[in-house]
Amino acid sequence: MERAPPSRSLGELTFLEISRHLKETSIICLPIGAIEQHGPHLPLNTDGVIAEELTRRIVARWGSDLDLWQLPTVAISLSREHDWAPGTLCLALESFIALVKDIAREIVRSLPARNLAIVNGHGGNRGVLENLIRELRGDCGLNACVIHPFDLSKAEMDSGYPDVHGGKGETSVMLALAPQLVRRDQIGRAKELPDRKEIEALVFDRGTTWPWRSDDPRLADRGVIGEAHAASAELGERIVDSIVAEVRPVLERLQEGRRPAPGAGDAKARARSGARNAQAASQPRRQASRARPSSHSGNRPRPRPPGRS
Ligand SMILES: [Zn+2]
Repeated sequence: MERAPPSRSLGELTFLEISRHLKETSIICLPIGAIEQHGPHLPLNTDGVIAEELTRRIVARWGSDLDLWQLPTVAISLSREHDWAPGTLCLALESFIALVKDIAREIVRSLPARNLAIVNGHGGNRGVLENLIRELRGDCGLNACVIHPFDLSKAEMDSGYPDVHGGKGETSVMLALAPQLVRRDQIGRAKELPDRKEIEALVFDRGTTWPWRSDDPRLADRGVIGEAHAASAELGERIVDSIVAEVRPVLERLQEGRRPAPGAGDAKARARSGARNAQAASQPRRQASRARPSSHSGNRPRPRPPGRS
């Protein structure tokens, strides 16, 4: 009988336990955060805290069913829209792309797993990651998807005002996941919120992309675009619960693209054999034709995200 893994945090395994527990169909979960201003009431590492803790909960809930493994969090990413604020740290675009591609290549070189679920905590990474996962598949043979937690949530927000950054959604989730990091006394209520039409035109318009910034007084109040004062831990729990529930079919779909073809033999036995890596490396090309078409067509309007970054 197979022993249960000591932990589903990949870094806590020994090298011998890798081949004992991971298979080609295993899903590696990579949280990506950011170090950037989140208004006066949330810490710089908000996106990393959310991505990592959500991933931990997803792995705790579905890890043994779907064979999930958590990688350490990528803590710094693409935050140029917030670089006016002290403490915001950004990678150059090329460095971020190279970092994610290096991690993908190393997964393929060093692990039997061929599925990668990126849990993206920072909305500013979205456009790059959407393109990058195609290269990860084509160049690295890695079956990948990007999970945008706030957009995945089906929790009712009851908010007519756009919620982009450090607002109701993100503050609520922080109150649920890491309340000790929220400066409640700093949650301000602007006398007048920035004009929603400007936010809709500069941040959400699908017809034009603008290099909007969070120090633009037309959009943000002290770096916040949204209604942080309307946040609550209860709403945060509902958002988190919804994300954890909604992610299961996403991960099943990801794994579906990576199941060995019928008659390809017992995956566990193959995973333990010395030929494991060579066989797995040939898999992506064989299965590439089975790849699902992208669900995101350029013309389809994207639903307005409750919490963008
Ligand atoms: Zn954020």
